[in-house]
Amino acid sequence: MKIDTCVVGPIETNCYIVEDAGETIVIDPGDQPLLIMDALAGREIKEIIVTHYHWDHLSALSALQEATGARAAMSQKDADRVDGVSRLDSFDIDRGHGAPRIDRRLSEGDEVTVGECVFKVIETPGHTPGSICLYCAEQQTLFSGDTLFADGRHGRTDFVDGSQRAMVDTLVNKFIDVSDDTRVYPGHEHSSTMARERKLNSHLR
Ligand SMILES: [Zn+2]
Repeated sequence: MKIDTCVVGPIETNCYIVEDAGETIVIDPGDQPLLIMDALAGREIKEIIVTHYHWDHLSALSALQEATGARAAMSQKDADRVDGVSRLDSFDIDRGHGAPRIDRRLSEGDEVTVGECVFKVIETPGHTPGSICLYCAEQQTLFSGDTLFADGRHGRTDFVDGSQRAMVDTLVNKFIDVSDDTRVYPGHEHSSTMARERKLNSHLR
């Protein structure tokens, strides 16, 4: 599995391009569609995954879909806030490309496959009610969105529908099966390992 990271937009969102065995998915196309297209270098997108509905994780979704016809998936709980919607809070998320389209609605345990890699969807409410993480046990890789960050931090819960109680519940209960050697790729800033985060984040165990 090969992972390219594009840091995009005004608050430096990590957009991940994940390739395995000739297939490619894009996670969180937050902004700068041309930069993402450039990094794709002609690779066809099998599916675009959005970890949660915040604008900084999906503002390039419309443009990418228009340019490539790519299908998109996000959580059942967040999807209706994005599917066919041009404006999110005060942001024009379609950026003149027409509203994004969500083709698949994901729930706990659903699979996202890229080549030989199978990622399981983990529902991780707290930052938003429908936040998800993607975990591939074989490749020891976790895409953690704005739920789990490096250096013992977790995502903000002070937004409109965030919940600190749900976040703590998520941190305590939803990562138990994630192995220590797993590389953690968050929605912002640098990556980490699960072992390091277990040491630094008192809610994880
Ligand atoms: Zn967010």
